[in-house]
Amino acid sequence: MNIPNWLKQRAFLTPERTALVFEQTSWTFAELYNETLKTASALRGSGIQKGGFCGILAGNRPETIFTIYALQQIGAVAILLNSRLTADEIEWQLHDAGASHLLFDAHHEQKAAAISSVPSLSIVENTVDRLFNPRDIYSLDETCSIMYTSGTTGRPKGVIQTYGNHYASATGSAFNLGIHSDDSWLCAVPLFHISGYSILMKSVIYGMEIHLFEKFDVAGVNKALKSGDVTIMSVVTAMLSVMVNELTGKYSPRFRCMLLGGGPAPAPLLEECRKNDIPVFQTYGMTETSSQIVTLSPEYALTKLGSAGKPLFPCTIKIDGENEGEILVSGPNVTPGYLHRPEANEQAFQNGWFHTGDIGRIDEAGFLYVLDRRSDLIISGGENIYPAEIESVLTEHEAVKEAGVIGVPDKKWGSVPAAFYVTERPLSSDELAAFCRGKLARYKVPAYFIQVEELPRNASNKLLRRELGAKWRDDHAHKKIDD
Ligand code: ATP
Ligand code: MG
Repeated sequence: MNIPNWLKQRAFLTPERTALVFEQTSWTFAELYNETLKTASALRGSGIQKGGFCGILAGNRPETIFTIYALQQIGAVAILLNSRLTADEIEWQLHDAGASHLLFDAHHEQKAAAISSVPSLSIVENTVDRLFNPRDIYSLDETCSIMYTSGTTGRPKGVIQTYGNHYASATGSAFNLGIHSDDSWLCAVPLFHISGYSILMKSVIYGMEIHLFEKFDVAGVNKALKSGDVTIMSVVTAMLSVMVNELTGKYSPRFRCMLLGGGPAPAPLLEECRKNDIPVFQTYGMTETSSQIVTLSPEYALTKLGSAGKPLFPCTIKIDGENEGEILVSGPNVTPGYLHRPEANEQAFQNGWFHTGDIGRIDEAGFLYVLDRRSDLIISGGENIYPAEIESVLTEHEAVKEAGVIGVPDKKWGSVPAAFYVTERPLSSDELAAFCRGKLARYKVPAYFIQVEELPRNASNKLLRRELGAKWRDDHAHKKIDD
């Protein structure tokens, strides 16, 4: 199956429509296509070929967008690199993917200079190749991008995302949210992550405007949402929570969707959003599903509190087990596999289902509840305990800034939860234990409380529980809370 080169087609269908707004400048689709062709021409002149793999190490700036589209014009595969990774980590990903080049912007020159094994090119140095001709069609099963998973549960894996995956993700989301002619999507999430990249694909497939932010600037974002200039925004919990904290007044009635994903959403935050009339759509998804695969509409935000919702139209989900179990997904947006990982692929794909590695349950009406990662499940005296539930209770305590829970060995129960926490003021473990006893079943109350300065996080800012496990093993003098 083929599809027209979507940027070329979009520039032909709606050339005058605004495609991109960045700071004081805007580009129509015709202008965006023109900039893209210039970049594609330069990249071709520098030796980037159809079928080649190119790393992109760049920020949320227009030239990054031109580069992403330019690689599509050439038919080269983009490897989107998280700019918070170290040079060594980036080098590992480039090597793993078999990259021929690394493209970087002016802000990442130093990091790129530390990478010697792959030739690197600045994305603004242009030597125009006049013979360049854009492609007319994309094949749906052709690889468009490689994105590495965040590396929360282990070493990151390169996820193959095809043109068909991105197309299905964009259309699946449109069937859910609808497309309004005045839509404008605010992008302050990274373009190297599927949350940001998928906004680009939607823009060109729908003919929709994007407001690009280089950095997540709370005041600027809140101002844009109040002005009525944007109608949709993608956020993760940490962003939404500062936005709500700093909000004075209300967002414009034109603002119709706050797409929240990436991790669990705490109930108090959803309550706050409801009070402020913020239409939150909770979502569940991963790099492997090319953005969200399950979404909860605002009308269910409180009656189905904690649920991630129902699958997007062309997708199906099921639970591997009786009641709770691993979440299995299938749909046209699901990756065909991990790059160069035959074993991981064998485990993840069985009988047409992708095994997500997350545990959940589906209620009688079909709403999905994501419980936690399968690898982090604690089994204590035969009972299942989900660290995320305990972490959510701990952070309800006014003095706790963040918390991480893992299972540690126990003679009597096999395994018991241990809590690591960061506070704003001195807080004794006894006080915190008493707080937990009031909110959690006895077997879920952590047996150990360890106050720490900060929690280990990866480049996507996700908690690394496996590093807490290593910390626990390195440190021997743990005092068990008496019960
Ligand atoms: P790795 O696969 O390398 O361990 P990762 O899974 O953190 O890294 P991503 O693809 O960025 O990499 O994240 C997807 C994961 O985020 C999901 O599998 C799930 O664990 C978590 N997640 C996403 N949405 C939600 C949600 N609504 N509720 C709970 N967890 C979520
Ligand atoms: Mg994952």
